[in-house]
Amino acid sequence: MHTTFERLRELLAEIHDLSAAMSLLEWDMEVMMPPKGAVARGAQLATLAAIRHRLQTSPELARLLDDLARRTTDSDEARLVAEARHDYERATKLPESFVRRFAEAQSAGCNAWLGAKANSDFAAFRPHLETLLELAREATGHYGYEGSPYNALLDNFERGMRAERLRPLLADLAARQKQLVARIVERQAPRDDAWMEGTWDIVAQRAFSLRVLADMGYDLDAGRLDTAPHPFCTHFDIQDVRITTRYDERDPFSALFSTMHEAGHALYDQGFDPAWNRTPLADAPSLGIHECNSRMWENIVGRSEAFWTHYLPVLREHFPGRLDGVSVGQVLGVVNRVAPSLIRVESDECTYNLHVIARFELEMDLIEGRLAVADLPEAWNARYREYLGIEVPDDAHGCLQDVHWSHGMFGYFPTYTLGNLYAAQVFETACAEMPTLWDDIAAGRLLPLREWLRTKIHLVGRRRMAPDIVRSITGSEPAADAFLAYLERKFGAA
Ligand code: ZN
Repeated sequence: MHTTFERLRELLAEIHDLSAAMSLLEWDMEVMMPPKGAVARGAQLATLAAIRHRLQTSPELARLLDDLARRTTDSDEARLVAEARHDYERATKLPESFVRRFAEAQSAGCNAWLGAKANSDFAAFRPHLETLLELAREATGHYGYEGSPYNALLDNFERGMRAERLRPLLADLAARQKQLVARIVERQAPRDDAWMEGTWDIVAQRAFSLRVLADMGYDLDAGRLDTAPHPFCTHFDIQDVRITTRYDERDPFSALFSTMHEAGHALYDQGFDPAWNRTPLADAPSLGIHECNSRMWENIVGRSEAFWTHYLPVLREHFPGRLDGVSVGQVLGVVNRVAPSLIRVESDECTYNLHVIARFELEMDLIEGRLAVADLPEAWNARYREYLGIEVPDDAHGCLQDVHWSHGMFGYFPTYTLGNLYAAQVFETACAEMPTLWDDIAAGRLLPLREWLRTKIHLVGRRRMAPDIVRSITGSEPAADAFLAYLERKFGAA
């Protein structure tokens, strides 16, 4: 006979399976689907989303959760019930009519954004953004919030974090980072990348990436590396976690760093506790903590001297004769070049947060009603002048560059910067607890770091929220100091 708890796990597994099927359709859409499949695929995803929403809000689920809230004492079981309750409440808070209006505005907004971006025509996107912003503000009312309405949206991406904490944290970070960038740029050696000229064979780039993936401990029997225009990681199960990358024939590093970034996400998803597979506990509590993993592997490890001490000789093997006279220092000069620029996704490790903080402050102003959509381009350009010291030539290179707002995703951007801050803090503790960590990396032994992250973060799943995970690992609150100290060490002496 079924216990109530077993029945709950069955229902949660069904919801999980529908989500996994949707993720597979989305993966296929980015990697394999012919262009004419788009309309049918949209309908398939909408159908599955509706079925899933029915399960997520079903009276039986509500009954089970009520019942178990009173009875469950075992701590993991209690945690699962609490997380399932959270998901149930989020799913039931938005009225169906709102969900439909929002989905329609998203698809119209996304279409309009594509055209507006191509023509740098903000006026064409403006009414859509106004609608999406109105809907986002309406959503904050449905969800309910304390303090800033932004908190209701932030909860979708970074639960446990609050606007009231983020605002001063990121304002302080922006001020300090701006000074640091100015200092680094002033002292930076002249560009030395003539040795990169010519083409870099994509087959060899892929072989090199696969070698690094294997060393990181990414299980290719439970994953794949494919090509997609925008690299991403997706998981359907602990045993099926896929990543994509993109290759640039003129740059032997860009695919590697995308691959390492996505592999950082993938190691997390392959490392969830198998005992709680197909439940909300086998999941990350936030995007920021996911980015903590991906950015640690891509930037702190992948752009380090120790890493290239081992992997430059490996890269030479994949490109015979191409890198004979090139030193580790020359590679580092290229992969760690700092230069304020217009486009977030192309920006370097030092200036990246400034792009994000500008967006965070603007979307806070939009949500809290201090900024009108009509005034966004001007406000955007002013922020870029202030934070990055550059003039934005047109809106395509300004406020139209990112997809997020066209999907009505407000509250997403700060998770990128939080990922950087968490990564630096957590890595500091990793170095303290594993004194040979850098020596291991310099010898191509990447598994000790993966094992450490598995114990400290991956296996935890959603049992704790991100700020709590950071606190429990490092003994301190999420803060900017470790990240700034890391940048100082890495770039300050250059
Ligand atoms: Zn990422």
